[in-house]
Amino acid sequence: MPMGHEVHGQGGVKFQNWAKTYGSSPELYFQPTSVEEIREILDMARQRDKRVKVVGGGHSPSDIACTDDFMIQMGKMNRVLKVDKEKQQVTVEGGIFLSDLNVELSKHGLALANLGAVSEVAAAGVIGTGTHNTGIKHGILPTQVVALTLLTASGEILECSESINADIFQAARLHLGCLGVVLTVTFQCVPQFHLHEVAFPSTLTEVLDHLDDHLQRSQYFRFLWFPHSENVSVIYQDPTNKPPSSSASWWWDYAVGYYLLEFLLWISTFVPSLVCWINRFFFWLLFSSRVENIAISYKIFNYECRFKQHVQDWAIPIEKTKEALLELKAALENNPKMVAHYPVEVRFARGDEIWLSPCFQRDSCYMNIIMYRPYGKNVPRLNYWLTYEGIMKKHGGRPHWAKAHSCTRKDFEKMYPAFPKFCSVREKLDPTGMFLNTYLEKVFY
Ligand SMILES: Cc1cc2nc3c(=O)[nH]c(=O)nc-3n(C[C@H](O)[C@H](O)[C@H](O)COP(=O)(O)OP(=O)(O)OC[C@H]3O[C@@H](n4cnc5c(N)ncnc54)[C@H](O)[C@@H]3O)c2cc1C
Repeated sequence: MPMGHEVHGQGGVKFQNWAKTYGSSPELYFQPTSVEEIREILDMARQRDKRVKVVGGGHSPSDIACTDDFMIQMGKMNRVLKVDKEKQQVTVEGGIFLSDLNVELSKHGLALANLGAVSEVAAAGVIGTGTHNTGIKHGILPTQVVALTLLTASGEILECSESINADIFQAARLHLGCLGVVLTVTFQCVPQFHLHEVAFPSTLTEVLDHLDDHLQRSQYFRFLWFPHSENVSVIYQDPTNKPPSSSASWWWDYAVGYYLLEFLLWISTFVPSLVCWINRFFFWLLFSSRVENIAISYKIFNYECRFKQHVQDWAIPIEKTKEALLELKAALENNPKMVAHYPVEVRFARGDEIWLSPCFQRDSCYMNIIMYRPYGKNVPRLNYWLTYEGIMKKHGGRPHWAKAHSCTRKDFEKMYPAFPKFCSVREKLDPTGMFLNTYLEKVFY
């Protein structure tokens, strides 16, 4: 850094996550452009006894990225540093958005093997919370990471991979933002590919009775269940050599359907019993016919999330899928006052060895529930939330780290065999808790 240049933080910035469900007022907000600047911010934090939170795309639907102390937004550290065509690996700065990375990779004939629903998220951010998609042969996104570098609280740069600092690597692949600043991430890529998506209607009974068939039939299989009904939309996505195409669009524009949905959901905040009819009506309107689409992989993996929402997403052992979903269905039937917006999205992921991965050492089913916020209005959800959490806990579930949940250290100690190992790495790398915040205190204290 040139002599005399000092890194400046901005005061008065309000941070809000994408869904505007959580926010904070950082005392100082930084957008560094170099490692030296980040080091300087950490020095300043140490001197003033401040905590530091690093943020990527700010998409996490919880307070995991919030702080009232120092916030470091990594948007200006977003370069592709190296593309190794032979190994099909790419090294990027932690702040790069996957939307930019997808395009860059495509120029080199490469792609990420799997992506979540949106790409306006940062490389270090998605791995930090264990972002996942679906496909029983595919792990969560952190399983695609082969190396990364961390700037720790003491200002030291640590490289880690399977062969260097291997223990730190298994912790840092799903780091929760509490081990230091993730400077770079190296992803294992695959050759660029197109996906053929087929969505078709089915019933909950059919899908649950033939789950193994569906899992084998499609590489990226998932399904959407419409609560208060038997309706299901099955979605298969598979690599194809066919050229891009899409089913002829219906006269009814999807967008119009969604505006109507928001309005009806808002009405239902006064008459909750309407939700059951809304779920059925929109299944009939938008999901009851077969739809096909072929495009480059990331355009199929990503879809437009139009509405702000509250969300929970736990991973349970895959063999518990049927039991757990039927229990949720029965709980809704037995409590007519408890309403659930559509869809419950059911996805699958391969087991892995990452210490804090919800899929640690087991193939898993993720069951994502939502409650929309029509025109920003919160809809009562406590009963539904607690019932769902109860069912997930009973079946050995582990909550998605990005999404709000009510678990504390005691729960995580039971859920994660490697939790003590993660804690000891964290305590070694950040003995004063510089990278903690309220969310993380509940996890570690
Ligand atoms: C519309 C929408 C769709 C979504 N779809 C999916 C989905 O399909 N599957 C799924 O699993 N999740 C999904 N999510 C959740 C999302 O993938 C995660 O919240 C992800 O972590 C967001 O990445 P981000 O860059 O916004 O992270 P942020 O929310 O900014 O940060 C997440 C964590 O990473 C830390 N962090 C970020 N950058 C760094 C860094 N450089 N160094 C150290 N720590 C860092 C933060 O401190 C925080 O702890 C979705 C969220 C939204 C809003």
